[in-house]
Amino acid sequence: MNAKVLEIENLTVSFDGFKALNQLNFSLDEGELRVIIGPNGAGKTTFLDVITGKVQPTVGQVRFKGKNLRSLSEDQISRSGIGRKFQTPRVYLKLTPRENLEISCSRSKNVFAALFQPIPAAERRTVAGLLETIDLTAKADLPAELLSHGEKQRLEIGMLVAQAPDLLLVDEPVAGLTDEETEAVGDLLLALAESHSIVVIEHDMEFVRQIARQVTVLHQGTVLCEGSMSEVQTDPRVIEVYLGHQEEE
Ligand code: ADP
Ligand code: MG
Repeated sequence: MNAKVLEIENLTVSFDGFKALNQLNFSLDEGELRVIIGPNGAGKTTFLDVITGKVQPTVGQVRFKGKNLRSLSEDQISRSGIGRKFQTPRVYLKLTPRENLEISCSRSKNVFAALFQPIPAAERRTVAGLLETIDLTAKADLPAELLSHGEKQRLEIGMLVAQAPDLLLVDEPVAGLTDEETEAVGDLLLALAESHSIVVIEHDMEFVRQIARQVTVLHQGTVLCEGSMSEVQTDPRVIEVYLGHQEEE
């Protein structure tokens, strides 16, 4: 049996009585790449919020590498190895991709120290490797403000990886990207999946098809079904929540 990086049991999150998550069960194997889909309001963002400690469970628990995350702060959870990529890129626009990655390396959380102290050789190699991985070597020393939206997304994913997390949580990474940029982000996530556990939330079905092995469908705060893309795509319950009831003949 594979080790579980994430185990979520009977998780309910209520906002003033409204259950954004409702008795949700979920688990992720170490090294797995999972895509989570579901209609608007299904609870996808709340699901990530509760893993990262932004929101506390009303009932149930989240275990990361066997450890219950309840009572840990967002910062403690992040330092224990969970990295989250938000929808809009948060890179330093006046700095270059190389500098952005140097700052993100776990060595220092202090931007000024990272900029003005000499960079250790090992870290320089790590950054060079990351630039290759995110395919930005050619633009490594240009100000990040000159990057396209897709390149900024790849840079931010690289910045996340620089912090050496075990679990990457990625919220809608291809919203607003061109087809070509979307495919590049997909290739990047597939490459990262070789050495990380990853949860991706996404709406873009073309993209889900490109990267998905296992798909979890959320609906009304709970897991509606799980399976391969072709299994969930043909599941009548999934078709119904996406398209609504079919007219009776
Ligand atoms: P998704 O990301 O799948 O679109 P969300 O997790 O953002 O869904 O939201 C799930 C449901 O919970 C929605 O109906 C939303 O309005 C509600 N919700 C989310 N956050 C809050 C909050 N802080 N207070 C009240 N209701 C919330
Ligand atoms: Mg959302």
